[in-house]
Amino acid sequence: MANHDEDLSLASRLCLACGLCCDGTVYEQAAVRPEDIAPANACGFRLFKTEQDRQVFLFPCHYLEDSACTRYDQWRPSVCGSFFCLMQKRVADGECTEAEGFSLIERAKSLRSAVLALLKPGQHFLWARSRFDALAGAKADLAPADAQLVVRMFVLERFLDQHFRKPGKKRLPSEAIARPAVEATPDDTKAA
Ligand code: SF4
Ligand code: SF4
Repeated sequence: MANHDEDLSLASRLCLACGLCCDGTVYEQAAVRPEDIAPANACGFRLFKTEQDRQVFLFPCHYLEDSACTRYDQWRPSVCGSFFCLMQKRVADGECTEAEGFSLIERAKSLRSAVLALLKPGQHFLWARSRFDALAGAKADLAPADAQLVVRMFVLERFLDQHFRKPGKKRLPSEAIARPAVEATPDDTKAA
């Protein structure tokens, strides 16, 4: 996840340009190791116990500023320094170039911005995601504003599933992830 290191590794530079874990775009929560629970509480991380009795902290993280972690030089939950997304893994394995990695980050941010552009004051990204989840399976015709939101969220979620989320962590069904690209535009009026 994102950091401020002056001697930046490629992985750190990618995270610094990204921040899409910490702001809740790629994942909504991260697992906390048992030994991290007390210090995480002391540092104000929003901890939550899942139905599987696991402790997680919720994103967006309030230590994120723009795409940079403001706690990089201080104690952080272990997952902050050890987690790498699918894109990072592909770059590390030589399956994806550095330039391609930065390009994927820019594209993901652009797709997220397209979603945010539809929101009203007081609405936020996680609201859009929960609205998308509620509407995506709707049988009835959607109002134009809802249809636009569904299309843009679908395009974003599919992009994240294809390039950032690891196997077992995808949000869309596999047939939707493999579907040919549909670009979201300001004139979108039909649900995907
Ligand atoms: S999505 Fe990947 S590149 Fe972006 S902050 Fe998370 S681990 Fe780093
Ligand atoms: S402390 Fe917050 S902003 Fe920093 S890497 Fe961890 S989750 Fe991200």
